Amino acid sequence: MNSQIELPADLAAFVEERIQRFSEEAPEQRRWLAPYVSQHRGLPLYLGWTGTLALRATGELIQWSTEDEWPGAREFDDVTSVQLALVEGAKLYPELVPLVPERPANARTCEHCDGTGRPNGLPVSGFENIICRCAGLGWLPAGA
Ligand SMILES: [Zn+2]
Repeated sequence: MNSQIELPADLAAFVEERIQRFSEEAPEQRRWLAPYVSQHRGLPLYLGWTGTLALRATGELIQWSTEDEWPGAREFDDVTSVQLALVEGAKLYPELVPLVPERPANARTCEHCDGTGRPNGLPVSGFENIICRCAGLGWLPAGA
């Protein structure tokens, strides 16, 4: 996948505004990210164990470490991270729903969850936070 997505002008403005106002309007449990947001100019979409996946108003997908594992921000383009960032981001910001990838005709059903979005082999409850490699979409792009 690409580390840069096409952002329509209105969404670019939306992302820029969320970045600007992050320290005052972000959900309480995410406000500690504010210094990273202003430093890297990215809107956090998904918080992993040690890093954050974020979107810039330019459409660049970037990640940074919140554990000081490495400095600065890097672009990312692996399918799992891109899908995860966009799917989780759209849950937080419904305005971003149009960015969630639609299943391409040549996509294959995710073999890790058989298309359910929930990884196979997990107990019925207690593991709701485990996210499948397809980011819960139930499919993977051809060649991924
Ligand atoms: Zn899956």
